Amino acid sequence: MVILISFSRVIVGNFYSSHSYDRVSYNADSAVCIDHTGMIQQILSKTDPNFSKIIQTAKTEDRLTFLNTNEVLLPGFIDLHIHAPQWPQTGTGLDLPLKEWLNDYTFPLEAKYANHTFAKKVYSDLVSSLLAHGTTTAVYFGTMHVSANIELARQCLNFGQRAFIGQVAMDNPFETPDYYRDSSTSSSLSATMTFIQKLTELTGPSSRLVKPIITPRFVPSCTDDLLEGLGKLAHRFDLPIQTHCSESIWEHNYAISRFHKHDTAVLDHFGLLTDKAILAHGTQLDETDLQQISNAHAAIAHCPISNIYFGDGIFTAARAHRYQIDVGLGTDIAGGFSPSLYRNIQQSIMSSRQLPNQSENHLTTANAFYLATYGGAKSLGLKTGLIKPGYWADFQIVCLPDHNDRPASDNNQLERLLYATTANDIKSVYVAGQQVI
Ligand SMILES: [Zn+2]
Repeated sequence: MVILISFSRVIVGNFYSSHSYDRVSYNADSAVCIDHTGMIQQILSKTDPNFSKIIQTAKTEDRLTFLNTNEVLLPGFIDLHIHAPQWPQTGTGLDLPLKEWLNDYTFPLEAKYANHTFAKKVYSDLVSSLLAHGTTTAVYFGTMHVSANIELARQCLNFGQRAFIGQVAMDNPFETPDYYRDSSTSSSLSATMTFIQKLTELTGPSSRLVKPIITPRFVPSCTDDLLEGLGKLAHRFDLPIQTHCSESIWEHNYAISRFHKHDTAVLDHFGLLTDKAILAHGTQLDETDLQQISNAHAAIAHCPISNIYFGDGIFTAARAHRYQIDVGLGTDIAGGFSPSLYRNIQQSIMSSRQLPNQSENHLTTANAFYLATYGGAKSLGLKTGLIKPGYWADFQIVCLPDHNDRPASDNNQLERLLYATTANDIKSVYVAGQQVI
């Protein structure tokens, strides 16, 4: 006898999900059953004897979502590197080198988040916009203002976005402006502590949606004592870490001149290269750095649009994959001009076509889709990014491009979708089984 379980939602239709780094699987006419905690409990094919009964029960209970034939279900995307406060400057000032861009545009803007009303207005718009673009998880750099960062967390909770949020730490008087710098190393460390405490009060100690992440801005903006203190905090509270690493020639050479080491070795020295670390960019990493990152089981956030403007090179994601390093994609707002992971999927493929050794180094559609979904999730140790039992029901339902000729294969259909989709084509978005868009 069959015992039918009541699900919080059953979504019936066709879906794509990564099978591996090199392969995406297409599943037609499937019933994706979500339990009451927001996880995928089981997936039934049309030939399963329980298929009709489960759909009928879900329909009776008004818990059924039935996709049209021109719609597909995809995992939600993971933005592994984004600066929340830079949202208002998106698409501007991209004509300057990194250091001037920071001093002329970015630091003056970030300083404005001392104003709570301003922070609330921007963060409300940012979080809702990212969800509308299919981004169900974001790893945010905040600012040095605890109250603004807590407001960002509040907006993620309000809109239902999964997020990691970082209190940005920066105390080096030689590389940060007077008006936007932690007043001392101890005040920077205590601001991070206060942020972790207030965030935990807001979300509860076992929040599954919004979590803190230790955030030294990058090596140049931090003193040795601050880097060391943040490394100790990350270990003490077993927290993830995010920072920039060998993003540009200037940043890469800065670490060499100050420490006679590469960024990777500097981060390792201060306890910041852990299996929970997300290193952004890495365009200047060499083989030794990659081996060190691989040994530490740290991950890399590949930000292909931003790298075109500020990276002085193309990060070779395929090479990092050969080193068995987890890699995800980041928009790097506002170093990148688009909040869309679709645009970054496209750019990751396009940029990889400019690399030498094409047979080894170019990215396929399947590779780029993997980076935007499971690659990002795996980097964060999160059970999301796949449509598979035991994973969070973080989804987007996307309308297929309107086109007379259906592509020759299911993979061609995914390829066309990844190149054509805009926010207007994303019909709905779910996080932990709850519809948020
Ligand atoms: Zn960045």
